[in-house]
Amino acid sequence: MYDVIVVGGSFAGVSAAMQLARASQKVLMIDAGMPRNRFADEAHGFLGQDGRAPAAIMRDARCQLLRYPTIEIVSGEAVGARAIGDGFAIETSGGSEHRARRLVLATGVSDELPPIPGMNERWGATVLHCPYCHGYEVRDHKLGVIAAHPMSAHQAILIPDWGPTTYFTQGQFEPDTAELDAFAARGITIERTPVVEFVGDAPALDGVRLADGRFVELAAVFTAPRTRPATPLATMLGCVHEDGPTGPYVKVDQWGATSIAGVWAAGDAATPMHNATLASAAGVLAGIGAHQASVRAKAG
Ligand SMILES: Cc1cc2nc3c(=O)[nH]c(=O)nc-3n(C[C@H](O)[C@H](O)[C@H](O)COP(=O)(O)OP(=O)(O)OC[C@H]3O[C@@H](n4cnc5c(N)ncnc54)[C@H](O)[C@@H]3O)c2cc1C
Repeated sequence: MYDVIVVGGSFAGVSAAMQLARASQKVLMIDAGMPRNRFADEAHGFLGQDGRAPAAIMRDARCQLLRYPTIEIVSGEAVGARAIGDGFAIETSGGSEHRARRLVLATGVSDELPPIPGMNERWGATVLHCPYCHGYEVRDHKLGVIAAHPMSAHQAILIPDWGPTTYFTQGQFEPDTAELDAFAARGITIERTPVVEFVGDAPALDGVRLADGRFVELAAVFTAPRTRPATPLATMLGCVHEDGPTGPYVKVDQWGATSIAGVWAAGDAATPMHNATLASAAGVLAGIGAHQASVRAKAG
């Protein structure tokens, strides 16, 4: 029986496990090795790691974690989760079952990109989700925002600080009056004819083709894809979810405690604010929260 099983071994999961390791908790971390930013060559804005490859950051983080003798890491997918008498049982795709008194779910989200030909192969390079993560690298070039949901207009209003911006409504996400005023103040061009194709030698981008055949030159586009939990584990356990602007996430308190006693959640899985530093910070809180719950249980 482990003290804690951490499912997910990226920014949130390793950060949670590190706090638990340093409290000498017996921890199993199960990770399927598919972090959300795996499509990007470089990660940006993460303290001390700006411009490094995401895989290199995570390799170092795991090496540091494995210096602690109470940590075990299993590569694989957790496919089942259920409450048992004194904790929880996690089943892996390999057919093993592991048991722990507490769980930390740090399983992230999956992105659902708009179905436009050429988009997937540019994801993380010239099709981007966040200007703070990757805007600097494409600054001063012609940029687009492909609307994917009602919040896309808010994203567009940010982008002129990185380059001249065209907002593509895709015929579905027309800005409201206040947004139109902001677009005018920010010098944003609106294009109402849908983008039907990305043009250029992927992952580079020359521009986009519109449904009426016109070509619009662009160096990069931003879009905020719909997100969904990367795994149904939290649902299997009965954790309450909330609706965020891009998709559902696990409802947690300030320590990452979910609605189910003994289960914490952290990172992109448990917030609408998706960022590596925030995921790591949430993992720290969840790890401390899970440890302090064990102290309270022992203290009576
Ligand atoms: C293309 C792209 C580029 C980005 N660039 C940046 C950037 O430069 N800077 C920045 O701050 N943020 C960036 N982000 C956001 C950042 O990637 C996320 O905020 C961060 O990865 C969230 O960390 P996490 O630990 O919550 O989830 P993730 O990093 O997504 O990790 C979740 C882990 O859990 C595992 N997992 C999921 N389900 C299971 C399961 N059932 N069993 C076992 N393991 C499971 C996954 O395989 C994965 O390893 C980027 C996002 C994208 C999409």
